[in-house]
Amino acid sequence: MRKTVLITGASRGIGKAMAELFAANDYNVAINYNKSEEEAEKLHRQLLDKKYNVIKVQGDVRNRSQVENMVNTIYSRFGDVDVLVNNAGIAQQRLFTSISEDDWDLMFDVNVKGMFNCCQSVLPKMINNKQGKIINISSIWGLTGSSCEVHYSASKAAVIGFTKALAREVGLSNIQVNCVAPGVIETEMNLHLNTATIEELKSNTPLRVLGSGRDIAEVVIFLASSRANFITGQVISPNGGFVI
Ligand code: NAP
Repeated sequence: MRKTVLITGASRGIGKAMAELFAANDYNVAINYNKSEEEAEKLHRQLLDKKYNVIKVQGDVRNRSQVENMVNTIYSRFGDVDVLVNNAGIAQQRLFTSISEDDWDLMFDVNVKGMFNCCQSVLPKMINNKQGKIINISSIWGLTGSSCEVHYSASKAAVIGFTKALAREVGLSNIQVNCVAPGVIETEMNLHLNTATIEELKSNTPLRVLGSGRDIAEVVIFLASSRANFITGQVISPNGGFVI
């Protein structure tokens, strides 16, 4: 039977690349977006035109009732959520001493509480079904820390701790929980980087390239598949060798 994946933050960037790959691999795909209605609709149309099974579902991952509504919409259309990809995220560059309380709260509300809301909303049915895969998107900065991104790095480190703990708790229900920690990927999140910085990042990367959304999507779709049934609680970091 065709499996269903919910990808949060799939209107743009890495999430969009995942939606395209999962749809092309015969999944039912729920494209979540928050603000980018136009981009989400464009992607939705593009995938429907290829006769793929997709829906778009608006919802701010910070908001529990919006997340529950979104999950219920997916249940009524596709029956289950077999794979949850917690990809929605924000970043911000700011000196530590300039990070406001609001900056801190927003970072953790989207990057950590959003993941908590989505996991709690889909897990009862996954536990009942005795199967499910959850893939949480962290970052290399969650592994190494990044200057001027203390709140982002801390939130992405929290994603790793959350993944490991949840994997231990739901393993008995045959649910795999893993984490993907991408290196620098060419998306709108990095539009603020100037050419010199991009060149420096490339030259510090053994493979001498930045990643694409597709590079991350390929790892995620593997973790979502039955080929990864014995993998749980792990952090896989596609990063071109930037962090070894
Ligand atoms: P992006 O291009 O900026 O896209 C971010 C996505 O997250 C958008 O689809 C956005 O949706 C969604 N989003 C943000 N806040 C949301 C909310 N409150 N509720 C629902 N969706 C929300 O970012 P990206 O580069 O693709 O990043 C995707 C993930 O990979 C993030 O978790 C990021 O931290 C991680 N990552 C990225 C890189 C990189 O170099 N790009 C590296 C490591 C990790 P709307 O536009 O519809 O609001």
